[in-house]
Amino acid sequence: MTLNKRKAVRIVSGFPTRDGAGVKLRRMIGHEDTKAFDPFLMLDLFRSTDPKEYMPGFPWHPHRGIETVTFMVAGSIAHGDSLGHTGTIHGGDIQWMSAGSGIIHQEMPVQSPENWGLQLWVNLPAARKMSAPRYQDVSSDLIPVVAEPGVGIRVLAGSRGGVTGPVVGIEAAPNFLDVSLEPGASCWLPIAPDSTCFAVTVTGSLSVGREDGGVEEVPDERVVLFGEGDGVELTAGPSGARVLVVSGKPLCEPVAWGGPIVMNTKEELREAFRELEDGTFLKHK
Ligand code: FE
Repeated sequence: MTLNKRKAVRIVSGFPTRDGAGVKLRRMIGHEDTKAFDPFLMLDLFRSTDPKEYMPGFPWHPHRGIETVTFMVAGSIAHGDSLGHTGTIHGGDIQWMSAGSGIIHQEMPVQSPENWGLQLWVNLPAARKMSAPRYQDVSSDLIPVVAEPGVGIRVLAGSRGGVTGPVVGIEAAPNFLDVSLEPGASCWLPIAPDSTCFAVTVTGSLSVGREDGGVEEVPDERVVLFGEGDGVELTAGPSGARVLVVSGKPLCEPVAWGGPIVMNTKEELREAFRELEDGTFLKHK
């Protein structure tokens, strides 16, 4: 059997913007990309050594109909919500929050030498948009590492060989792999053919094959969207690479997006905002 290697179909640099109470960030995936990246809605990278750029944070705000995934490379973010959860996400940790029917939370960076992380939004299918909110908070020491020649793979969600990550029960059947490659090292990652797959370059550089047969050297802080195939081949550049590889099954449903709330229809969005005004938004407390 010949394995069909997924090619890079888009290499994204993103654009600078601010969100929350004024946090400087780089938006890599957004409103224009819902078809190409389905089920992923948004990806923001934030990386700063200037507290003025990140300390404003993301004060109390609602979410409904989506999952928010927070992953830190360096620095920390303190979190609190309407269900009474509190905690701090540190470098290497992941929080996979399924907002479901609704949650009101805040995400506030802690001052540190560098605040460097990302937030990814994963869409929920119509049948799950109003389900009970759910958290999975996983600290770095609980994440299994698969060591291979020249390659280390932290399995946060999904699997590598027989090793399964601690984040489970997610509708999109995602992979979320944190892959470190020594200079020039390669690794093949099988990805379900029906899944959308992209990589985020964290440090170093990655050589990826393009559709036209060429090879592109991708620097850090880029998103590479892969086309169809059985898996991706990662090859590190001369200084090695750290890359997050994310995949998930597309929903192929209509998207009605209103800020932090993403539903299927405009009427469902109006209802959500009505409920926020009249105090009936939270279905689970
Ligand atoms: Fe949030």
